[in-house]
Amino acid sequence: MLHKALQHNEFELYYQPQVDLRTGCIVGCEALIRWNHSGMGLVAPGRFIPIAEHSHLINQIGRWVMQQACFQAKTWQDKGHSLKVSFNVSARQFMRPEELMADLNAALACGVNPHQMSIELTESLLLDAHSMGTVLEDIHATGVQISLDDFGTGYSSLSYLRRFPIDVLKIDQSFVSHSDKNPDDVEMVKTIIGMAHNLNMRLVAEGVETAQQALLLSELNCEVAQGYYFSHPVPLSQFESLLDAQIIFKPARGNDDFEMPLLYSI
Ligand code: C2E
Ligand code: CA
Ligand code: CA
Repeated sequence: MLHKALQHNEFELYYQPQVDLRTGCIVGCEALIRWNHSGMGLVAPGRFIPIAEHSHLINQIGRWVMQQACFQAKTWQDKGHSLKVSFNVSARQFMRPEELMADLNAALACGVNPHQMSIELTESLLLDAHSMGTVLEDIHATGVQISLDDFGTGYSSLSYLRRFPIDVLKIDQSFVSHSDKNPDDVEMVKTIIGMAHNLNMRLVAEGVETAQQALLLSELNCEVAQGYYFSHPVPLSQFESLLDAQIIFKPARGNDDFEMPLLYSI
């Protein structure tokens, strides 16, 4: 069924804005795959990516995602938008590093500025330090940025963070979503932010759902955030409407200053 989905063009990328907490502007987005199934409707990746990972279909899907994300980023680049566009790769794609690099280079051939692209991978991948070192260096050499997804939930040690060319830490949504209630989670967020700044990495906080969380993160000097508070992942046309609006929330100067953002849902 999934290989037919590829043939029949049933996959679609949704885009979730990443917002600069100081200006309220969209500075990037994460591309998230959806499957438009004729009978089941819109299927979330959690329901089909794990199935695709059992076969080489994940490599084909991954190739399609990279091509679409790079092509879209190039289109925005040509319209004068300066946006970081992130896309996800599966651990299975790293098991065939030559194919991954060939796919990435083919996707970049559309002419997008590679520095505008960011590849998201999870911490567990770094555990296979031996084989990962070379491929991450190869990716980095193309100019594509490397983001560590769901950061804080895995087993990364400081030495891993220093050993690999990592540009962005994405603070996992589990810390962010409890940060307005649980002091331990606030401490965790503070630690990750401090560490990222010391290591010259950029930060994206994931899963921001409330004004309080956005305010707290901006007070802790986290530059960029993503989450339902700003916008759900949305189809291309809706994302472009958000881009046209430019500022999608008003940065806070105090607790009471927050205004509701333009909320979009899928
Ligand atoms: P992820 O990479 O951690 O993506 C973030 C997920 O959190 C997305 O779910 C997004 O819709 C959701 N999210 C965003 N903001 C909030 C929020 O404020 N609150 C909450 N509770 N959730 C939020 P989605 O789109 O269902 O994707 C789930 C996972 O599927 C992704 O997790 C990623 O691991 C995987 N995935 C998505 N697209 C791709 C893809 O193109 N390739 C591969 N290999 N995996 C993908
Ligand atoms: Ca991700
Ligand atoms: Ca994540």
